[in-house]
Amino acid sequence: IDELAPDLRSLVSRRAALGPCYRLFYQKPLHLVRGRGCRLFDADGTEYLDMYNNIPSIGHSNPCVTKAVTEQLQLINTHTRYVHENILDYADELLGLLPRAIDQIMFMCSGSEANDLAVRCAQLYSGGEGIIVTAEAYHGNTALISGLSPSIGKDVPMGRTMRMIPTPDTYRLGTDHLGAWMCARIQEQIDDMRRHGIEFAGVLFDSIFSSDGVIPGNPGFLKPVIDLVHREGGVYIADEVQPGFCRTGAAFWGFERHGIVPDIVTMGKPMANGIACSAMAIKREVLKAFADGNPYFNTFAGNPVAMAAAKAVLSYLREGHMLEHVAEVGEALVRVLNEAGERHPMIGDIRGTGLFVGVDIVKPGTTEADRARAVRLIEVLREHRVLVSLCGPYGNVLKIRPPLVFGADDLDMFADALEASLSEIEHV
Ligand code: PMP
Repeated sequence: IDELAPDLRSLVSRRAALGPCYRLFYQKPLHLVRGRGCRLFDADGTEYLDMYNNIPSIGHSNPCVTKAVTEQLQLINTHTRYVHENILDYADELLGLLPRAIDQIMFMCSGSEANDLAVRCAQLYSGGEGIIVTAEAYHGNTALISGLSPSIGKDVPMGRTMRMIPTPDTYRLGTDHLGAWMCARIQEQIDDMRRHGIEFAGVLFDSIFSSDGVIPGNPGFLKPVIDLVHREGGVYIADEVQPGFCRTGAAFWGFERHGIVPDIVTMGKPMANGIACSAMAIKREVLKAFADGNPYFNTFAGNPVAMAAAKAVLSYLREGHMLEHVAEVGEALVRVLNEAGERHPMIGDIRGTGLFVGVDIVKPGTTEADRARAVRLIEVLREHRVLVSLCGPYGNVLKIRPPLVFGADDLDMFADALEASLSEIEHV
């Protein structure tokens, strides 16, 4: 082992200590030590542009969050068995941003935990068990939710009561009749459940279908779908872990783009800019079905420090007029991508809203996914100091999702790196 390069040696010891489950990005993994805004710095001081991380949504090391967390830590950090104003202030503020019908909120530490509780509430309220998700969905890692996350892979057992509909791939299916197409697929699955003696409990959807390949679709296409879910007695759980908190530039929440009101909303990642914090907001009558038999305690959830960080994020989003900023800079980002698409036929489709954009890399002149080239592209982009990743059923869709404080100089750096990288791999 002493003969290995020093960085390789730390990778070997990392695997020895942490086991084989963790995956690292890039053939030559990154060791990041510092971040600011949309920029990241590795141990050698090399600067990177972060086009991927949606968790530090108001920028890496945002001083407002640091201040709020430090001040609260110096006072006290406890749990929800004592009263504290931070959780109440934040709950009021956040409920004020949700549809009026969604009037209660509970806190957790991860999106997985929020979805776990949401599914349990949906099942108790509806009296059914069957949950429908999309074919490449990821909703979390608890036993219940990994059984509703087919993108994890074939080795993870899917739940007996889960059903899938295909990815609503607008590039390959078209966008015109997407709502009707989805309704038909959902009806098939509800009928199938009932044939097997399973009653329908609801759907768990991320309205931007991020792990399905970033599929915003036309605003409103989910409206008939959710109407159908409700007619069939199901609960609509909106997983806002990805599209929530201004990400789409169209509205604060992803579901608002569709003019629909969920029964339960789950959220996490960007909520406290990296401090563990998630939540489940819910209609009180739906929560009642769960609350009648079950107390709930989650040691770290909703603690005063996490709530201080979450409050700082909300203030920053409001005061920085982040929604307008995201809409504007998101359009500029798509313009840059469209221009690149005109020069480079490997770009098959560009779809996005706000600062969440998917770029489908294909064999030129076809809609056939080109995963090998997409993998090469993200490696070459990294050499040009721009960080992105891949998603979708074929693993060929660039997932572009920078912190929301993405600015004009960031866009310039991205445009230059993208052009250089695409030209470099064009004929490989
Ligand atoms: N839902 C969606 C849509 C997600 O993307 C994720 C995480 N990638 C989760 C839920 C789970 O969140 P967490 O990792 O915080 O448990």
